[in-house]
Parts: sequence; C-alpha cells; structure tokens
Amino acid sequence: MVSMTSPSETGQGSRRTAPVGHAAMRSANLSLLLRHLHAHGGRSRATLAQETGLSKASVTSLVSDLVERGLVQEGSVERRGAVGRPGTEVRLAPQHVAGIGLELNVDYLAVCMRDLAGQVRFTDSVPMPYALDPAASDGRFYPLAPILDLAAEQLQRALTAAAAQGLWVAAATIAPPGPIDYDEARVRFASNLGWADVPLGEELGRRLGEGHPMLTLENDAKLSALAEAPRLARRGITDLVYLTGDMGVGAGIIAEGRLIRGWSGFSGEVGHIGLDPAGEWCRCGRRGCWETMVGFDTVLDALDEDDPARSGRLPMLERLALIRALLEAGHAPLQERFTRLAGDLVRGAGVLVDVLNPQAIVLGGYFGHFADLLVAPVQAALDERLLAPDGRVEVSASSLGLEAAAAGGAAVALDRVLDDPLLAPVLRG
Ligand SMILES: [Zn+2]
Repeated sequence: MVSMTSPSETGQGSRRTAPVGHAAMRSANLSLLLRHLHAHGGRSRATLAQETGLSKASVTSLVSDLVERGLVQEGSVERRGAVGRPGTEVRLAPQHVAGIGLELNVDYLAVCMRDLAGQVRFTDSVPMPYALDPAASDGRFYPLAPILDLAAEQLQRALTAAAAQGLWVAAATIAPPGPIDYDEARVRFASNLGWADVPLGEELGRRLGEGHPMLTLENDAKLSALAEAPRLARRGITDLVYLTGDMGVGAGIIAEGRLIRGWSGFSGEVGHIGLDPAGEWCRCGRRGCWETMVGFDTVLDALDEDDPARSGRLPMLERLALIRALLEAGHAPLQERFTRLAGDLVRGAGVLVDVLNPQAIVLGGYFGHFADLLVAPVQAALDERLLAPDGRVEVSASSLGLEAAAAGGAAVALDRVLDDPLLAPVLRG
C-alpha cells in the first residue's frame, strides 16, 4: 500500500463522474480545511476561503462543524495582511483529540500520545522483557506473549491518560522493528526479535478489549522519518534518509516529501545491505550485512563481559548513559569502537547517498544519542567522497531521540482524523 491520495486532492474542485455522496463531499471539504490549518497554522475564515478556493459561506459552515467536534477553536484576531477587515483566527484545538504511537523496540517499549496541535500529552518507556524466561534465554530470546501483554499495558496507560485528560483517541499506531503486512496488521518478520508473521493488531486489540481505538501498524524507521520530516521541511529539505541504530539498522526514506514504502513495504531494510562477502554472519542468514558492522551489539561487544550496560533489564537511556560514562573515563576498546563506527557508518551511508541522492541523513536511535561523536566524522567522510558539489548531503542527529518512532506513530494516528474529521464525535453541551 503506497500513500493514499490526500483528501485535498479528491475534495473541493473534484470533477469525478461518479456521484459523490453529500457526506463524503462534506468530509473531504472538512479535511481540506483541517489539513490546511495543520500545515499552515491559524488564519481567519476569509483567508481560509481565499487560500482553499471554498466559498466564504462554506468555510463558515464547515468551521462551525469542526468547532462542534472539538477539532478547531477561535483564536486571536488575525494580524497578517488579509483582505478586508481583520477576522478572528481559527486554529487547531489541542484539548479534545489525540493520537497514540507505540514503538516495540528490541530494547524498550515506548509510548507517546500527542494532541491535534502536536503537544505531547503522555510518554512512557519500559525495558523490553526479553530475559523473562532465563531457561530459554541466551539474551536474544523475545517471548511473544509477555511482550504483547506489556505492549497492551503500555497502550492502556496512554488510553487511561487520554480519558483523564478528556481526549478522544483517533487511533494508535504500533511500530515493530520489521516489515509489515499493512492490510492484515501483521508483522511479516522481525529478525532481531525472532518473530515471523505475528498478527500484532489482532493480538493487541484482543488484549485491550471492546471499544479500543483503531490499531494500525507502521515500521519504526519509517515513522521516525515521518516524525523528523516537518523539522527539515521548514528548511526546504524534502528528500531525507532517517537511519535508526539499534541492534539492527533501518532506514526511513522520504523522497520529494513522501514516504517511500516500496512495492511490498520492504524499503529501508538497509541493515541487510551486503558489504562484505567474507564478513560476519547476520541474524537474517546472510553474511557481511551492514548491521553486523554498526548494530548496537558491536558497541556492547567492546564492553567487559559483566558490564551492567549489557543488561537488557536496564532502561535504554540508563545503558546509554553508562556507555557515555565509560567513554569519558577513557575506556580504550569503547573509544576505539566509536572511532571505527563513523567509518563503518559511512560504508553503508555512502551507498544510500549514491542510490537515493538525499539532501539530509538523520542519525537516530543510539547513533543519534552519540551524535557528538558521529555527526562530524560521518559528514566529513561523506563530503570527501562527493561526486559533484551539489550532491552534498547534510548529516544531523534526530531531534526526537529514542521517542522518534512513537512520536511519528502518534502523528500518523492523527492523520486518520485529519483525513476524515467526521470520525471525531460531536462534543456534548
Ligand atoms: Zn542481515
């Protein structure tokens, strides 16, 4: 499933021959207005009419519908150079509608809830319980049922917070570390969890019980890319590659402002680009994959056998802080690992630059956490291998840290109501 046509392309001004029901047309026009406010910020009804091509009477009627559903609210008097007398600004309302994102990472489960205005309303992160069954565990064993239970608990915490804050939840997006069957809400495989063909949507829905919000799935790196894209778009960057560094390495690719999923959703599985036919065996069954050179395990391997940072029982941020402390204390193998890591990153990033010609590469996951050690050398090495000066790519760190995928999930969940505002219930009283 490639990204769907946005309602703004099918709504007002559409000249389709098939009859369009009144409700569908109204929903499309409501979406057109809501998306316009989402993209451009608050403005008066007169400006909205001028910019969208809808009549002033339509805008007035549509805005009152959006107000009734708690999606927009009246703001201050518009100050921009509008035609005629200044009107009251209409803007997205933060207090009624929210979206939830849940990242199922190999090291942690992070949940994030955002309101329609983009404010974070709830976040939480817990370590992944992969050592629950010591008898079966070699440190790599990810038992399915306890993880699904914990994921449902994290979702329930966010839903409870939503109820306490009077927020209606449009949807929740779950981000597993692997390719997805979008139609069936299944994880096709997640090699680093040892999972294959898991009906994640159905399993979580059953655990949450009746009345749970719609659950959809999207890949973690793709969601992170979507979460970072608006920050870069403000500077005219429409083509980017988000690299997430965990036990595995994944990429979210945005080209000309649109997320690239690939024909069957496998785009961005860059951790398995083969870089060394004689290299180490990868969990995917191939040899010399990029993630055998830059995955988080390569950092852990530089630690002493009993180092607490190796423990998956600790929260990820604590583990990263322990590694940081060792680096600063002069732990030689670790320092050497980070020096080589920049070069190993460039081996794969260079391929991506040559294939995709992005304007920006964003380092996320643990790469982003150690951005002070990685961004400058990766930037310098990529600059050195430029084919032409206008092929330069800007390297930066994720601004959202380990919560990027969950934040992107919340934003994608809110898309559901931006696409069809009639889903939001009319407020009482
Ligand atoms: Zn591999």
